[in-house]
Amino acid sequence: MAEEFDVVVIGGGPGGYAAALYGAAAGLRMAVVEKEKVGGTCLHRGCIPAKQFLETATVFRTVAGAKEFGVVADQPGVDFAAAQGRKQKVVDQLWKGLQSLMKGRKITVVSGTGVLRPNRRVNVDDGTELIGSKAVILASGSVPRTLPGFDVDGRFVLTSDEVLALDKLPASAAVVGGGAIGCEFASMMSDLGVQVAILEALPKILPGCDKDVADVVVRSFKRRGIDVRTGVKLEGHEPSGEQTTVSLGDGSTLTVDAIVISVGRRPLSDSLDLDGTGVVVDGKGFVQVDGHLRTGVDGVYAVGDLVDTPQLAHVGFAEAIVAVKDILGEPAVAVDHAKVPWCIYCFPEVAFAGLSEQAARDAGMDVVVSKHRFNSNSRAMIVGEAEGLVKVIAERGPDGRAGSLVGVHMVGPWVTEQLAEGYLAVNWEATPDEVSAYIHPHPTLSETFGETVLSLTGRGLHG
Ligand SMILES: Cc1cc2nc3c(=O)[nH]c(=O)nc-3n(C[C@H](O)[C@H](O)[C@H](O)COP(=O)(O)OP(=O)(O)OC[C@H]3O[C@@H](n4cnc5c(N)ncnc54)[C@H](O)[C@@H]3O)c2cc1C
Repeated sequence: MAEEFDVVVIGGGPGGYAAALYGAAAGLRMAVVEKEKVGGTCLHRGCIPAKQFLETATVFRTVAGAKEFGVVADQPGVDFAAAQGRKQKVVDQLWKGLQSLMKGRKITVVSGTGVLRPNRRVNVDDGTELIGSKAVILASGSVPRTLPGFDVDGRFVLTSDEVLALDKLPASAAVVGGGAIGCEFASMMSDLGVQVAILEALPKILPGCDKDVADVVVRSFKRRGIDVRTGVKLEGHEPSGEQTTVSLGDGSTLTVDAIVISVGRRPLSDSLDLDGTGVVVDGKGFVQVDGHLRTGVDGVYAVGDLVDTPQLAHVGFAEAIVAVKDILGEPAVAVDHAKVPWCIYCFPEVAFAGLSEQAARDAGMDVVVSKHRFNSNSRAMIVGEAEGLVKVIAERGPDGRAGSLVGVHMVGPWVTEQLAEGYLAVNWEATPDEVSAYIHPHPTLSETFGETVLSLTGRGLHG
């Protein structure tokens, strides 16, 4: 006997659980099929564990620099097994919280692998059959991409999954890929004493970031001893004893204890057995959807890393809400993926929303740009992290002055916590006159954003 719900969700990561929580809050009977643990990549193998280890790195830096603040402390050492234990405690606590939240909203969670069948049916590998009388939402997420010649063995070649489960850090590592995840790992490991090299195929690390922002990160990484190599081609690697030697396209080699592959994530559409269902999957494995996350098969939606939109947990949340509203027949505004907030938690942190200066110019915009550095911000000096800047890009208005803000880019102390108003301004298409009317408390790091926008009006206070 098939069990019937309003909506059946396959996958209990941020996309899937957000759909379930939002749907249940709106009165829908929701079921989630999950083959591992609700919380998905984000909670168990992604955002949360990665940020927990970056926090260990922050504590290490703070203790190492305590003397400057007049605090006498022993120089720190690293007990990564203890850091792993703390990570697991935080993850388990959040996992428990999520399960009780889902239980509280009467969401049925079915353990097993679900596959899509015609007429909004979902078959689970334990024999259960579920029907989504209104809809099925596909949210099976993604897994790390790998590279030919670099088989993941958990010893010499690791992906994020293996790094986040380590009890001991390697003495040296080559991080392959200088994107967000690669830079976070490189930063964390370097701060904790690992000799790190970043090997990036493209001409610069942090592709997609504004150049001024990426340059600050590169300078900081190099100063801290991270060997940043761009335009690199990998040939393969050869283990010998306790280490492995990576061969590069230019004939050089690099011998390290571990290779961390962070070259993006592959959508997990193959776990859904979509052949013959009518759901269209593109050449890279992404499920194709429209702005309302509809697959084209009646009542079947797809959200999160499974679709070709920024692979971010909060994008999954936003897409889940749009999909559920559409299922409810409510008007839903499609997510504007070009303006979603991005946060990268390496040291120094990076956060941005909207177009970089180059992307705005490439789009044919006449832009006005303002930049302010944190080294003139009092709070940044107080906390001892004055490296970085805020850059705001506005489209020039018909009067020749800076008009709507099209991009806000930040690098420096706690910028991941400061981006929210920049994101709001860009999505609101606010002008510098409108934004600069709002007060930023003193002394705060956020004053640098206020000052950057104020100077776009032509009347900055501090430069
Ligand atoms: C190291 C790392 C750091 C990251 N940091 C950030 C960050 O700071 N901020 C951010 O926004 N994003 C971050 N991300 C990305 C974020 O984790 C993903 O964007 C997010 O988890 C995607 O959510 P999802 O629900 O689409 O997929 P997932 O989280 O991958 O969840 C999919 C779920 O579906 C289950 N599943 C798959 N197939 C089936 C099936 N057939 N039947 C049943 N269950 C199935 C899986 O077991 C999984 O639990 C990070 C990722 C990594 C790897």
